[in-house]
Amino acid sequence: VSAARGYRLAAELSWLAPARARFARMRREGRLPHGLLIPGAPGLGKAAFADWAARLVLCDLSEDEPCGRCGSCLLHAAGNHPDYAWITVAEDKRQIAIDDIRELNGGFALKSLRGGWKVGVVSPADALNPSGANALLKTLEEPPASTLLLLTCHRPEALPRTVVSRCQRLRIAPPAPDAARAWLAGQPEAGAGELLDLVGGGPLAALALAQEGGVALKKEFGEIIGALLAEEGVDLVQYADVAAKNRPADRMRLIEHWLGEAIRQALTGEATGAKPLPDGRLRRHIKALYALLDETRRAQGLLARGAANAQSLFEGVLLPLATLLSGRGPGMVDRKT
Ligand SMILES: [Zn+2]
Repeated sequence: VSAARGYRLAAELSWLAPARARFARMRREGRLPHGLLIPGAPGLGKAAFADWAARLVLCDLSEDEPCGRCGSCLLHAAGNHPDYAWITVAEDKRQIAIDDIRELNGGFALKSLRGGWKVGVVSPADALNPSGANALLKTLEEPPASTLLLLTCHRPEALPRTVVSRCQRLRIAPPAPDAARAWLAGQPEAGAGELLDLVGGGPLAALALAQEGGVALKKEFGEIIGALLAEEGVDLVQYADVAAKNRPADRMRLIEHWLGEAIRQALTGEATGAKPLPDGRLRRHIKALYALLDETRRAQGLLARGAANAQSLFEGVLLPLATLLSGRGPGMVDRKT
């Protein structure tokens, strides 16, 4: 979400309405803190919300909704508001640059150029490294008057406690699954609704995955599972090779999600997927399924750090899974790669 586009997007995301109302009330009642943590699952539009909130605080005219016409709103829309800083991860980086935080601190130490608030957004704060967080702490510990820091984050528990303890929280709740699917059905990308569970309920995350071909990846993996259940020949080594080279993180997440659903189905007897699984077979091997689920999570951690042995990570999950689904027993489940 770019800073100039975020506030417009926020108005289109219906599930942000309670958070927007809460923030507007805090502002109206003069209860804005200096640091506001905005936690929530990925793909809920936290950055868009933060940008909208910043625009509202800076707006010269309105209290509940940025007016869109005043000098402040126009500067914000043009992306060059002098009292607004938008800090995120540079495209080719994985962490927020400490120099950007230092610049933010420097800006906050100066008087507001338009005589009102100064607002900074750090999004996502999960991408702060320890020195970045430490630098940010300086401003949070001694905030100048009329300054507001908005920190979006996926996992507040991963942020330094010193930072979290100096912020109020405004959590973004995910929409109900039906509401999320209804919203996705109105988007140009077909099939995004069926990726919602996979991404943890964030509609924008489902949409992004659909735009990157996630629907086809899911269908392909479903066909492999179908073939394994039917005990048709599947070249899993070749699939592992392809998976390692093409979207390995998304594919491993698909496998993790499938295993989670299979375990749930085996335990509750409820079929959630299009096709019910042979639950007797799965229930017999529930421990092995849990072990494979753990393995997919470990593999995702390794993939995120750029593991060189991606193919063997896939084989380490898929080959034992094939054995389980064939009904022959846990077999090679304990194999470590
Ligand atoms: Zn305005």
